[in-house]
Amino acid sequence: MKLDFSAAGWAKVIAGTVFGTAFCIAMAFFVDSFNFHSMTDSQFRYSLMVNTLLPTGLAAPLLFLLLYKMRQLAIAHHEISIIASTDSLTAVLNRGAFKMLVDAYLQQAMRQPAQNAGAFLVIDADHFKSINDRFGHQKGDVALKIIAQTIQGSLRQGDIVGRIGGEEFGVFLPKTGLEQALHVAERIRMQIGEVEFPPDTMSHSLSVSVGGAAFGRNADYDDLFRVADKCLYSAKAGGRNQVIFERLVA
Ligand code: GH3
Ligand code: MG
Ligand code: MG
Repeated sequence: MKLDFSAAGWAKVIAGTVFGTAFCIAMAFFVDSFNFHSMTDSQFRYSLMVNTLLPTGLAAPLLFLLLYKMRQLAIAHHEISIIASTDSLTAVLNRGAFKMLVDAYLQQAMRQPAQNAGAFLVIDADHFKSINDRFGHQKGDVALKIIAQTIQGSLRQGDIVGRIGGEEFGVFLPKTGLEQALHVAERIRMQIGEVEFPPDTMSHSLSVSVGGAAFGRNADYDDLFRVADKCLYSAKAGGRNQVIFERLVA
């Protein structure tokens, strides 16, 4: 794990050290100020020196070390949470993280009816077993990465994509109506069909089938997945390489 500090990270550590040390010096002066009136000049000068140098020599290195370690912990925590929520092959969200984010959106949408619309897609690679059989598992992995990148590249910021099965991806489109979601799903299907695969002389077209569920009322993940998966099943049965959508009934 790389615990690289950004310029902003270093700036926080240094600023914390400087302000923390200044605070310690101010506190030392404040406490000592009650004795100032009874000090001779030389005692006063000595006191100024001690109140400045002691906190600088002790507090500054301690604060620096403490803030540096805290920053390292924060970075490690951030990196661990990214690793825990990312699919290691395709770099999209893994199944658990995808479901958690979609659930969170749906929960919030229930409290804000204006947001309570969207669409859920299940995208499954067609005849993927034969891709592995023909080109080998490693090239199959490359195909999965290409599919994930193509899906991701077709989405807006705020849309959510995850790998929810071996060769199956979930996409959640917040605040998106049926027409628009159909358009997105078709665009993904067509773009995957146009991809060069494998990246050598043997050519083979990739294709995906897409099942979609659009909603405009309270819905939960299982509802959406059930309807989208049913549509995916119809798309497979209808010959694959196609999109089938359904709207959740009120
Ligand atoms: P369909 O069009 O009906 O979806 O057919 P399919 O062959 O895609 O579906 P099936 O469920 O029969 O096979 C899925 C295949 O996906 C089998 C499995 O080995 C492959 N697969 C799943 N995960 C991975 C992976 O991480 N890497 C590779 N290379 N293949 C995978
Ligand atoms: Mg498949
Ligand atoms: Mg599948």
